[in-house]
Amino acid sequence: MADTFDLTVIGTGPGGYVCAIRAAQLGMKVAVVEKWPTFGGTCLNIGCIPSKALLHASEMFEEAAHNFDKLGIDIDGPRLNLEQMMAHKDDTVKANTSGVEYLIKKNKITAFEGHGSIAAPGKVNVINAKGERQTIESKNIVIATGSVSTPLPGIEIDEERVVTSTGALELKKVPEHLLVIGAGVIGLELGSVWARLGAKVTVVEFLDRILPGMDGEVAKQFQRMLQKQGFEFKLGTKVTGIEKTAKGLVAVTEPAKGGDAEKINADVALVAIGRKPFTEGLGLEEVGVTLDERGRVAVDGHYKTNVDGVYAIGDVIAGPMLAHKAEDEGVALAEILAGQAGHVNYGAIPGVVYTNPEIASVGKTEEELKAEGIAYKVGKFPFSANGRAKAMLVPQGFVKILADATTDRVLGGHIVGKNAGEMVHEITVLMEFGGAAEDLARTTHAHPTLSEAVREAALACGLGAIHI
Ligand code: FAD
Ligand code: NAD
Repeated sequence: MADTFDLTVIGTGPGGYVCAIRAAQLGMKVAVVEKWPTFGGTCLNIGCIPSKALLHASEMFEEAAHNFDKLGIDIDGPRLNLEQMMAHKDDTVKANTSGVEYLIKKNKITAFEGHGSIAAPGKVNVINAKGERQTIESKNIVIATGSVSTPLPGIEIDEERVVTSTGALELKKVPEHLLVIGAGVIGLELGSVWARLGAKVTVVEFLDRILPGMDGEVAKQFQRMLQKQGFEFKLGTKVTGIEKTAKGLVAVTEPAKGGDAEKINADVALVAIGRKPFTEGLGLEEVGVTLDERGRVAVDGHYKTNVDGVYAIGDVIAGPMLAHKAEDEGVALAEILAGQAGHVNYGAIPGVVYTNPEIASVGKTEEELKAEGIAYKVGKFPFSANGRAKAMLVPQGFVKILADATTDRVLGGHIVGKNAGEMVHEITVLMEFGGAAEDLARTTHAHPTLSEAVREAALACGLGAIHI
């Protein structure tokens, strides 16, 4: 007779594999089902990891081309070896996906390769690439099937000339002109990769700002920085069609509010207008699992769907589509299933845009505080007044801390600057502990570090920063 599992997780992205590992650590008998040949989901195979490998490599290329001479390093201009850069990306992906494979084995998790679907509560069907079918018996089932790119109606993706992020991570040569549709995280990160390698990049964005959801002041300053790097923005604009010709692409744009059409010639177009939950072929309708109005699996505060024994986490449910949010939900759910008090603090999930400079953000933006009628104070400090930033030739950007006007409790932190994605965590920890700006301001920071700018911004919430 086949084994009965305590938990079967469908999908091995950061939500699924982390949930499976934590459940195994808590003593459960766990299975995972994955339709791709490697573990790690979108994040490790076609998302966070390959994009960061290319962002790092292209940033090094740009540094060598534009900054080495200022530091007294004379080299003949760097030459791009795109094949090797892609090999670095592929090696990075492989090292990470095989790392997850090792962890799955180490934690004695049974892995099934194939497409999983829920046959009934307690039963998961798996069909592999050869068409062979198995049924897994499991007390609990977790849907961790992630998300896919949102298509743009009327625009056909071929992943060579009209691409999603997946194709944009695999281009065979540097486009002369890359058209990016959507000024969100993917558009700006992957636009940066190809701009640094020599492409002209035009970004068409439907709204009248970039990075919706991020602090407005941060987004505005960052847009200027990207323009200096050669990005061209067409805000308040939509793409209504793309014609493929032998010579290239001709995109037709229109003002979002209506008006005259314009044409943009490009050789590659990246469609990056968001991602949508992936639930196809999971059998949700048949077993009666409810979706919300945006097609996400509806769950309660304990990640439980309306069907007993069926849970969901990660990109497939509501909330920011971030790997660390999916991971933390995986841990919390495993703990809840083990009878513990698993919990995710959605008020303190950092978000990072890995451009140069980076943008990092946690907690409330000024716009959100205003809308909620919360009285707040702002402490700001520019990297141009930070000693280490001067030594590293990275004076761009600033730190902004938002604290409650009465209690001084930190409500949000926003950073544009080199290594912002590493620095944001001290604000995140502070917020986890309900700390005040004064707590951060009184904490000794090593000198000279970029993090001193974070402390100075906290000081600016009180008597004032020292170095400005
Ligand atoms: P996913 O990672 O999408 O994994 C879902 C898994 O389920 C996949 O392996 C899929 O094959 C499998 N699956 C689906 N259906 C079935 C089925 N029926 N049977 C079996 N298996 C199935 N987030 C960050 O936090 N930081 C970043 O820097 C970052 N960069 C990104 C860059 C790009 C280009 C993209 C596209 C995304 C990026 N993200 C980033 C977002 C991040 O990848 C997702 O938030 C994260 O992967 C979600 O994890 P998940 O476990 O919910 O789902
Ligand atoms: P996004 O939601 O970040 O940005 C999409 C952008 O496209 C928005 O600015 C939106 O206004 C715009 N848009 C929507 N429809 C449009 C249209 N028809 N024409 C022009 N513009 C349009 O989505 P994304 O950049 O595709 O990223 C998807 C998800 O992946 C995000 O939720 C993000 O959290 C995640 N991700 C995270 C990271 C990171 O954490 N560093 C990196 C990449 C992706």
